[in-house]
Amino acid sequence: MIKVVLVGAAGRMGLEVLRAISEADDLELVGAVDRVSFGESTAALAGRGVTDLEISNKLGLTLDTVKPDVLVDFTHGSAAPENAMIALKRKIPVVIGASGLSTADQSAVRESCREFETPACLVPNFAVGAVLMTRFAELASAWMPDVEIIEIHHKDKIDSPSGTAMNTAERIQAARRETPRRVVGAVEKVAGARGAGYKEVQIHSVRLPGFIASQEIIFGGAGERLILRHDSIDRASFMEGVKLAIRKVPILQGFVIGLDKMMF
Ligand code: NAD
Repeated sequence: MIKVVLVGAAGRMGLEVLRAISEADDLELVGAVDRVSFGESTAALAGRGVTDLEISNKLGLTLDTVKPDVLVDFTHGSAAPENAMIALKRKIPVVIGASGLSTADQSAVRESCREFETPACLVPNFAVGAVLMTRFAELASAWMPDVEIIEIHHKDKIDSPSGTAMNTAERIQAARRETPRRVVGAVEKVAGARGAGYKEVQIHSVRLPGFIASQEIIFGGAGERLILRHDSIDRASFMEGVKLAIRKVPILQGFVIGLDKMMF
């Protein structure tokens, strides 16, 4: 049994992860932490069948008390690096699901992994289909360098572009054999009309009710276009990936980014 503490347990993803861990035969939920809903019961929040624990608001104390094998973080990008340090200092491997970590944050987590000789992973997207989409995009980028990304998330997602879109752009840039075509003298009549440029990929972020997480990658070539699209229509889509990361993180080396490193 892999003993797991979840931080961000009362959030939208947290509640789904509480259910997924409780249902898995080889995982044991031993702690649930959140800065809200502390004192409440996980079963009352996430439903019957969920391992019943009292939600704590003290991560360090919980880790010292229950001594888990893995910490899973579904808080926010602003909180996740600090939470990771708290666990890594105690030599507890970490799965970071929260998005929005800056490059500096990622470097700091990587450094802590080195210092405390404990692994961690950051997974921009736990949906297996989304990981496959990124992989297909790498293949296409070698032949079709002109590409733009439209990412669509629920209206409460606070960071943009999404971690998945940024990761996709990084992979596209690394896989390109030619630089994309630039339009000289292009004019944006409204700032941001062409989206955000990252790694020579324009990313367009949409925030709307009626969506969980979707992404479309549009490749344009002479007389043809190729469109890759993935939709997470339910947060359940992330759970196989979350469980895979929990199982694999203890045997990773250092700081690893992306579920693909654990899938392929
Ligand atoms: P949410 O706002 O519903 O939940 C976040 C929870 O974290 C809240 O309950 C909040 O109280 C708690 N929290 C915040 N800071 C905390 C801290 N310092 N200590 C303890 N608890 C803290 O958000 P959500 O929709 O559940 O998403 C959570 C994160 O996961 C976001 O960053 C989101 O972008 C990311 N996400 C990642 C994936 C993926 O596949 N990697 C998928 C969906 C969401």
